[in-house]
Amino acid sequence: MFKNMTLNDYSIEEGIRLRRMSSAGIRARQTELMKAHLLHASKSAFYQRLFREADFSPDSFSSLELIENIPFTERGQLSEYEADFYAVPNSEFVDLVQTSGTDGRPLTIGYTQADLQRLAYNEAMAYSGAGFMPGETCLITVTLDSLFIAGMAYYLGALMMNMRAVRSGPGRIDRQLELIRTLSPSVIVGVPSFLAKVADYAIEKGMDDFAEPVQGILAIGEPVRRPDMGLNALGNALSTGWNARVISTYAATELETAFCECVKGRGGHVHPELCIAEVVDDFGRILSDGELGELVVTPLGVEGMPLVRYKTGDMTRMYSGQCECGWNTPRIGPIEGRKSQRLKYRGTTVYPQTILRVLHDKLGIDMAYIEVTSAYDLSDSIKVVVGEPQEISAHRAKEIENAIQSIMRVKPQVILRSKEEVENKITGHGGRKPKQFFDLRGRA
Ligand SMILES: [Zn+2]
Repeated sequence: MFKNMTLNDYSIEEGIRLRRMSSAGIRARQTELMKAHLLHASKSAFYQRLFREADFSPDSFSSLELIENIPFTERGQLSEYEADFYAVPNSEFVDLVQTSGTDGRPLTIGYTQADLQRLAYNEAMAYSGAGFMPGETCLITVTLDSLFIAGMAYYLGALMMNMRAVRSGPGRIDRQLELIRTLSPSVIVGVPSFLAKVADYAIEKGMDDFAEPVQGILAIGEPVRRPDMGLNALGNALSTGWNARVISTYAATELETAFCECVKGRGGHVHPELCIAEVVDDFGRILSDGELGELVVTPLGVEGMPLVRYKTGDMTRMYSGQCECGWNTPRIGPIEGRKSQRLKYRGTTVYPQTILRVLHDKLGIDMAYIEVTSAYDLSDSIKVVVGEPQEISAHRAKEIENAIQSIMRVKPQVILRSKEEVENKITGHGGRKPKQFFDLRGRA
């Protein structure tokens, strides 16, 4: 079935075989790949310097346990020393990608031919693990241009899987529905909030069978699961609106690697030949299964801009042990927040996303933002501003406070404002996405 699907060194058949090996077998393979990766990374000026300063020699890497001897790489270093990370001459880059630059200036990532093939394989394994087959049609509703990588990654992956790609791109709801009606895609790749809007629109227009061919929604860029792996409100909206399986993914442009759920939906699978993932505490110690910490990724085999133990700033949990799908690879849970946005509130740690999720899931409130200032060293002052008509304020404010108290031991300040005022605040900052968290800590 997976014949003719080999592109250079990557074969889906081999990939599946590797994932079904024993953990020890997988780790042995990863040790070899990690050593080769470290040797290649040390061709870049950055890692040559970093390894020398840490007195670390890639040649000495003989077991995955030794990974803790290797220093981390921080996002700030990537911005500061960008070109020092290149491990090949500029002439070998065939595609340039830029991160959206949500924190800081945009970062340019160069891909070589081999990097693009590696990415295609990553997404082919994602489709395969999520239960899709050669010959199926895939509607890609994310952009392939604008220096973005996600759309192209899923496009190349679909080609490698011998699927039929339909590059509809973002927006134009009528056109998307027309393509679904005429070309019958079984898979849709897209941003959850957009796809939820498409379903709402179709239902509103009385198009009863609009989702009939669609078996699965591959959700990128926004979380669709709660930390307990159940679907969150957005995930549920997708699953009911489309009457389809919702498959969650996690990726970051600079990682050149995506973690995609399998058919069982038990977290994003770590592709063992493409990366080593760790979850660490504030002191850089590797945490046990199920503990919340920062995700650290070493994307194996990247040629152009290799990274080693890259701290993503995203908070998640690791789950190792065999998955119900039969793959013997660890999975990462849903992202629970950004480390830099972690709030300290009278002895409790909480992330703005958690508060916003509770407001959405328990009370159906989306029109809200959080503003945080420093109260004193060990506690932040948290203000939750909700756009609600003020006439019903007394009872509603209490309801909101109670919902928040269910996740934090104490109640932060809840303020009701008009919907317009809150909407202006969250959309009026000029960014591409609505902003619901305003961090004023450390400012006078
Ligand atoms: Zn699985």
